[in-house]
Amino acid sequence: MDPEQFRKHGKEMVDFVANYWASLKDRNSGMTPLPDIRPGDVSKLVPSSPPKNPEDWKTIFEDLDKVVVNGATHWHHPRFFAYFPTACSYQAIMADILSGGIAGIGFTWKSCPSMTELEMSTLDWLVDLLGLPEHFKNAAEGPGCGIIQSTASDSTMIAIMAARAAAVEKVKQEPTFLNWMAATDLGKTIKGILGKVRQNTTEDEASGLPPPYYHDPTVFEKFVMYCSDQAHSSVEKDAMLCGVRMRKLKSSRDAELGNFSVSKETLEAAIKEDRARGYVPFLLVATVGTTCSCAVDHLDELGPICQQEGLWLHVDAAYAGSFFVCPEFGYMKRGMEYVDSFNYNAHKGMFINFDCSPLWFRDGAHASKFFNVDAVYLSHEHQATAYDYRHLQVALGRRFRSLKIWFVLRNMGIEKIREALRKQNELARLFSRLIVENGQFELFVPPHLGLVCFKIKNANNAQNEVLCNTLNEDRRIHLVPSNVHGTYFLRLAVCSQFTKEEDIIFARDVIYEINSKIRSQV
Ligand code: PLP
Repeated sequence: MDPEQFRKHGKEMVDFVANYWASLKDRNSGMTPLPDIRPGDVSKLVPSSPPKNPEDWKTIFEDLDKVVVNGATHWHHPRFFAYFPTACSYQAIMADILSGGIAGIGFTWKSCPSMTELEMSTLDWLVDLLGLPEHFKNAAEGPGCGIIQSTASDSTMIAIMAARAAAVEKVKQEPTFLNWMAATDLGKTIKGILGKVRQNTTEDEASGLPPPYYHDPTVFEKFVMYCSDQAHSSVEKDAMLCGVRMRKLKSSRDAELGNFSVSKETLEAAIKEDRARGYVPFLLVATVGTTCSCAVDHLDELGPICQQEGLWLHVDAAYAGSFFVCPEFGYMKRGMEYVDSFNYNAHKGMFINFDCSPLWFRDGAHASKFFNVDAVYLSHEHQATAYDYRHLQVALGRRFRSLKIWFVLRNMGIEKIREALRKQNELARLFSRLIVENGQFELFVPPHLGLVCFKIKNANNAQNEVLCNTLNEDRRIHLVPSNVHGTYFLRLAVCSQFTKEEDIIFARDVIYEINSKIRSQV
């Protein structure tokens, strides 16, 4: 493809995407959020071996509807109510075109200065817009730092590794710990291990190698981290991959939101109990906006305990974080001053498409020390003064993700984002009123931030499961279930920017219709 052909076919591709979006909005297009498709159907449309000779673009283009669109789940369909939203906008799509066009890899400042510095600036903008503490800013005096990760899962993993390494470092210097090591059998064993590690460290440092003790499993063997039993599955997966013992704390209904959060008493009791058995509590991953029911672990309750007990506090606000831009949802930010690292998925609610998951550190300089492995070919003359983002992620390579934030915030503006989030919340509230109207349904928890959790009244889990499965087989709407402490319920999340009141009423009608049909069959 030469530049002229690229101009021509590129424009056709833009038209294709614009038409796709128009068809999503068109309620007469016959499109449903779920495709009518079985496993293997798409594979059958793709030859089992690659083409021997290049095909012309026209032939490829003609396959797009058949293979791609017809086989896609339409996340932006106005009647897609599953999971949590994934955001998008024309501005963000254009940013991705530009990112693909620049096609650079900005692992250090030198490898792409604009990628590094635009990321630093736009994340500082987000600190202002979300109302996060100033000390998170890249431009602040002090070691705060913001970086865009791909996902919340990646961010949690980075936070666990940083917290773990910081705790290893701290434990080595702790006078009480040193006394304890001298006085107890377990302490003596750990002292022995640390002694060896320290010796290795000195040798390694002398040989110019990075200190391996930060991530040495023999040191963090007794470490334990905490999260709510409502935390996303990614937290458990990350802990498992980091080789860290994790304890899920039982959540209970809180007074403020009537939802399932971790109480301060539960955290305190767990820390006490674990210390008594010789474990070293080092981290709490609090969730602001749980996936099951959009509950909030209250940072102003849990933060002081973390501070007092020396635990790193990481916040996973993957979904709810976007709502911080609206002052009326500011209650979720109480206690932010205790937070060591904070992450949310901008791609879940700010018209920014996947992937864009900002992660902030109170002390990024300290955290980056634990990820620093130097190589001659990566070093540059400005590394003492410039940001090298490679030190705060697992991968070396990174994309130009900040363009999406830059385009959206400049061209769309924050008020439009606020408006969309408020609409999402209002539509969910509308659904929460409509679904209980016929007396056959009840809410599992009060609606929160665009999510409604509901179930059939006086029905068991199996009956609710039949309803959920039948709704998805019907395909006119798409939603997913969840389960909290043994109770199965359905979740309706307002996901699409195109969802209107009529879609919410439609969802209620379809649920009533299918539920009546099921009831008439038993
Ligand atoms: N944390 C929470 C609270 C979530 O709701 C989700 C996904 O919805 C995740 C983490 C995982 O997100 P990601 O796909 O960015 O890893």
